[in-house]
Amino acid sequence: MLAPKEIILKGLGVSPGIAIGTVHVRESGSIAIPEYSLKKSEVAGETKRLKTALKTAQEQIGRMKDKSKTIPPAAAEEIGFLLDAYEQMLGNSRLVRGAYRRIKDDRINAEYALQTEISDIQASFAALDDAYIAARMDDIKEVADRVIRALTKTHVKPLNTVPKGSIIICDEMTPADTAQLDPKRVLGFGTVLGGAQGHTAIMACALGLPAVLGTAGILQQAQSGDLVIIDGSQGRVILNPKPATLAAFEARQTERKKNLKRLERLRRQPSITRDGVDISLGCNVELPIEMPGVINSGASSIGLLRSEFMFMNRETIPSEEEQFVLLRDIVKTMDGRTTTIRTLDIGGEKLAQAITKDIGESAQSALGLRGIRLSLKKPELLESQIAAILRAGAFGPVRILLPMVSSTREVKRTRAIINTVAERLKSENIAIADPLPPVGVMIEIPSAALTADALAAVSDFFAVGSNDLTMYTIAVDRTDEQVADLYNPLHPAVLRLIQGTADAALRNRIPISICGEVAGNPRFTALLLGLGIRELSMSAHSLGAVKQRVREIEITAAQNRAHFIMSQTDTGRIAMLLDDFNGLV
Ligand code: PEP
Ligand code: MG
Repeated sequence: MLAPKEIILKGLGVSPGIAIGTVHVRESGSIAIPEYSLKKSEVAGETKRLKTALKTAQEQIGRMKDKSKTIPPAAAEEIGFLLDAYEQMLGNSRLVRGAYRRIKDDRINAEYALQTEISDIQASFAALDDAYIAARMDDIKEVADRVIRALTKTHVKPLNTVPKGSIIICDEMTPADTAQLDPKRVLGFGTVLGGAQGHTAIMACALGLPAVLGTAGILQQAQSGDLVIIDGSQGRVILNPKPATLAAFEARQTERKKNLKRLERLRRQPSITRDGVDISLGCNVELPIEMPGVINSGASSIGLLRSEFMFMNRETIPSEEEQFVLLRDIVKTMDGRTTTIRTLDIGGEKLAQAITKDIGESAQSALGLRGIRLSLKKPELLESQIAAILRAGAFGPVRILLPMVSSTREVKRTRAIINTVAERLKSENIAIADPLPPVGVMIEIPSAALTADALAAVSDFFAVGSNDLTMYTIAVDRTDEQVADLYNPLHPAVLRLIQGTADAALRNRIPISICGEVAGNPRFTALLLGLGIRELSMSAHSLGAVKQRVREIEITAAQNRAHFIMSQTDTGRIAMLLDDFNGLV
């Protein structure tokens, strides 16, 4: 039998490293379909819900079509026909018309309406006993499943039960999906959709899973059981590699492991520049399973705890007690080192069904009801989170960090809530942090950076979220692979906002750190130090490489280069000047 042909596909390498394993194509599994009847007054809302889900599914197909244009013409044509057919089914098809009618006439929810319509179509096709029709039925089911997933916001089969050694291949992986991955079973993943700076990428890095997103044609070419290499460093997926290719990647994998071991030895070395300036290196934490890595990295703190993880992949909101226990355990593990806990930053691509289901589209919009806005809109949610943080603060130093702040008003309102919650807990004789924890602001929206002096007057520290700051400054969606080439934190506008914020922090004598992805990339270290930043927070996996870079840098030289870079207006030239300083060119 002929060996299967080696296929190399290009995508966005979002989490470095090499994974070699077996393809597990994530298929549509059985989705728990809710069934309920509607009151007359609810019909219009349900019709709108179906309309929105159809739009989401259409957008997904549209993006897959755009992606497929970048693969060889013959394959693109074939995939194009299939995706055209899907698009038509999402338009004015029997499936869609029937579902709308059932919502209106039978007064049933949209998922159930689709499911019932599918059963009807299936019954009428079954009598024909024709292979072509059977294949079309599969297509209709695929389309209906896609809409039902958009309605229920669930993804398909649980990802934590895949066979050991799997590499997941699928159309899209949400941050919540990624949070479910068990690195003992899953070695990496490749998807058709997704940008390099989204939270799926961040979670993949946190879990140490090589990942390539935005890979056109991957679902059509990969079959479950195939051997596959994910090259997360160079953004390549190699299906059915030839023996020579496999050997080359195995060698690279061994080399990388050796390098990481070498960096691990820096763990006990101080994070200090050549001219003796201390640089504090902290960790970003997304999931409690990262904690052993955090301790092992020698981090001096947790500079960003993304508390969203507690709210994802569950149907109910965690109680104050549940949140407290989780946070207390993390604080205790840190053993006296500070844990900076960010309040809920749900919204955008990070959805938590239990909270966002009644918010609708606004929670999914980058400009919508998200971050601190959402917390202030749902004070009971914020209060229970604050109570859990204050209580965890009785077990070690914590700081409270507010995400997506755009004005001083949000900070003042949150502070008032913190004080009220603290008074209540004290009156109940419950142990809390004493004194109350510092309250800091994420600088990740241009309005926050531009009013940093005013924000400094009402807050105790700044944490620059360069991921969102880049997105909002250049108006480039960090999760969209189609504009990934425009996303660049070296854009002079982004650098000016970081510089202005650093100057404001200095003027107002409050600490400032950077916790966006630039903090974990040694390429940016000299520039950030040169701009006056002395605290960086990153994935535990990046800490060794950044510490190595810190120890090579002389602050005065970095300041001079940063000064020169800040006089530039061209992103390409800025990159060249930085890489030149780093000794790369
Ligand atoms: C950021 O925006 O840079 C940040 C650290 O927050 P997140 O990536 O969670 O949005
Ligand atoms: Mg952010």
